[in-house]
Amino acid sequence: MINEFDTAHLWHPYTSMTNPLPALPVACAKGCQIHLQDGTVLIDGMSSWWCAIHGYNHPVLNAAITEQLTKMSHIMFGGLTHEPAIKLGQLLLSIVPKPLQHIFYADSGSVAVEVALKMAVQYQHALGEITKNNIMTTRSGYHGDTWNAMSVCDPITGMHQIFGDALPSRIFVDAPTIKIDDPWGDAAMDDIRLAFKRHHKNLAAFIIEPIVQGAGGMRFYHTNYLRQLRKLCDEYGVLLIFDEIATGFGRTGRLFACQHAKVVPDIMCLGKALTGGYMTLSAVLTTTKVAHTISHGKVGAFMHGPTFMANPLACAVALASVQLLLQSPWQYHVRRIARTCRMTLTHLKQLPHVADVRILGAIAVVEMTDPIDMAIIQQECVARGIWIRPFGRLVYLMPPFIISDDELTTLLHEFTDLICTTLSPNFKK
Ligand SMILES: *Cc1c(COP(=O)(O)O)cnc(C)c1O
Repeated sequence: MINEFDTAHLWHPYTSMTNPLPALPVACAKGCQIHLQDGTVLIDGMSSWWCAIHGYNHPVLNAAITEQLTKMSHIMFGGLTHEPAIKLGQLLLSIVPKPLQHIFYADSGSVAVEVALKMAVQYQHALGEITKNNIMTTRSGYHGDTWNAMSVCDPITGMHQIFGDALPSRIFVDAPTIKIDDPWGDAAMDDIRLAFKRHHKNLAAFIIEPIVQGAGGMRFYHTNYLRQLRKLCDEYGVLLIFDEIATGFGRTGRLFACQHAKVVPDIMCLGKALTGGYMTLSAVLTTTKVAHTISHGKVGAFMHGPTFMANPLACAVALASVQLLLQSPWQYHVRRIARTCRMTLTHLKQLPHVADVRILGAIAVVEMTDPIDMAIIQQECVARGIWIRPFGRLVYLMPPFIISDDELTTLLHEFTDLICTTLSPNFKK
């Protein structure tokens, strides 16, 4: 059953080559179901890491990508353009906050973060602010795995321990501790205010995941934090970058998480669900002020241009995916998922080995008191017919929006039972 070539030769995410966790061969996936090669069917609780909001193998998305394929799968974006890129751009600008008016298409989330950081530095450079070239961020963040993206990830749980000295040195403030439903107190901003005062002369930008810190800890924080952060950035001439790569396209209950706070960033990164999980594509959006300042600078151009920039297949399927989302009752689905999760999972808080249960939109997180043994959990989940991928002390769900009531009930039943039995400290295998 385990594919020997895969085990011996193919690297999987964050995995050992000599002692990997098993990777299960998938034959196909449809709707909210993953079909393994051995015939096992799993209900998907992960949306392939935030991406597959419409489920898998969707006829509308299949049709969009097939139609584009018959025209051209790729064409260089240097000196040429095409309808999928233009139409997607028009649609994106119609749904993001108005001040965002210019788009740079990149190939993945991490690259979008690289592009956003470069934009910020180039903006300050064009203003003659040549010392304003560093980045501030919070702890517990996650922004991707490439060099500069990695440099702004959490310095403890991120990869600084290995790459620390090789990475550019960033300025970190504590993660927002004030939770989304806590009463607001201005003291939550004391440290960060001080950090702005101390470091602003060297700061090009502040980067943060709005409302939800994802892979760095699945934490939900207060909307006022972003409002205050916006003020500080304005006061000190620092650009505000929102990384909406995980939160974009409805996952948190708003189309974009920044809309919870009604705060507009100077630069915004989109990725993951942008193509409904069909292809890798990201977009970096910015204001006219930033775009024109960069363009009026000495260099006169923004210095980035990936080979597969605005890939037509990716743009065509992204266009279809965003249209499909906007035409669907996605708010209803996200509320339905949130309500069902709240009803089923809240009582788990009472278990001694559960530290916290939190739900926002179609994201449900159960934080355990101790780290989880992935090998046991993966086996156990497959035996139960569900697919989840915990990390650290976090077991969580973010199913496709289209998950049926029956599938959701089964997923939650098995998930709850897993936490009560396999993840209980008394469990012995
Ligand atoms: C996944 C993620 C990224 C990186 O995206 P990739 O496509 O994996 O490079 C960046 N930021 C956030 C918030 C993410 O969740």
